[in-house]
Amino acid sequence: MEKLIITLAPTGNVPTREMTPHVPTRPEEIAKDAVECFHAGASVLHIHARDDEGRPTHLHDYFADIFAALDDTCCPIIRQISTGARAGKTPEDRAQALALNPASASLSTGSSNFPNSPNVNDPPLVRFLAKTMLERNIKPEIEVFDTAMIWNALDFRKEGLLKDPLQFNLVMGVKGSQPATAKQLFHLVECLPPGCVWSVSAVGPAHVPLSTIAIALGGHVRVGLEDNVYYAKGVLATNLALVQRIAAIAKAFGREIATVEDTRRILGL
Ligand code: MG
Repeated sequence: MEKLIITLAPTGNVPTREMTPHVPTRPEEIAKDAVECFHAGASVLHIHARDDEGRPTHLHDYFADIFAALDDTCCPIIRQISTGARAGKTPEDRAQALALNPASASLSTGSSNFPNSPNVNDPPLVRFLAKTMLERNIKPEIEVFDTAMIWNALDFRKEGLLKDPLQFNLVMGVKGSQPATAKQLFHLVECLPPGCVWSVSAVGPAHVPLSTIAIALGGHVRVGLEDNVYYAKGVLATNLALVQRIAAIAKAFGREIATVEDTRRILGL
C-alpha cells in the first residue's frame, strides 16, 4: 500500500481564540505549528490567512507573510493555499494568493452549504480557478463537500482543466453538506475514478473512525484545528496532538508515513 500523506490544516476560517487558545492565526504561529507537525509526519500544509483582527482574508499580502515565515524556518513542508468561499467572494479575490505559486491549492468543484452560509462554487468560478492553477502549474486538491463534486471534477478533466492524477479531499461532517458516516465514505470512494489520490477530512467525533477507515483503504488523511477544535469530548486539540494520533494509528496498521519527497511523487508535483 502507498505511504500515508498527512495534511495539516492548522487554522481554517472558523476557529477563534475564544474557541481555543491553540489556533495559530499569525504567520509565525502557523509556521511554528507547521514545523512541529512536519517532524511528527505531516508533509502538506493547508493554509488559510487571517487579517490583523484574526478574521479570514483572501488578501495576497497576508498569505505572503505566512510564506515568508515558512521560508524563515526552512521547513520543506508542501504549501497548499485555500481558495475557499468563506474569505474572498469574487473569482479574482479567490485567486489572489495563487500569485504566490504554491505547490498546491484547494478547488471546490461545486456548491453546497456551510452551517450558516452558502459555499458557492459555480461553474465559471471553478473554471477560472482551475485555469489559473493550470497556467501556474499549481496542483488542485479537489474539495468534495458532496458527491456531485466528484462527477463535476470528471467533467472538468474532460475539458482539460484538471490533469491526472486527480487529487480529492473528501470533506465530511460539515453541517449543510454530506454527513461524516462510514456509509457515505464508502459511497464516495466507490465513485472515485481509478488512479486518483484521495484523502478524508472529517469534522467532529467521526474524525478518528473515518480517518482510520481511510488509512485501511489506502486513502490519506487531513487533520488540524480547521476541522476539529476538540481532540476528544471536552478536551481541546492541538495541531501536534492531532497529527501524532494519526501517525500512531498508521504505525499500528504498519502503514508508512509519506515524506515530502514521497508526497511530491504520489501527487505528481
Ligand atoms: Mg480550508
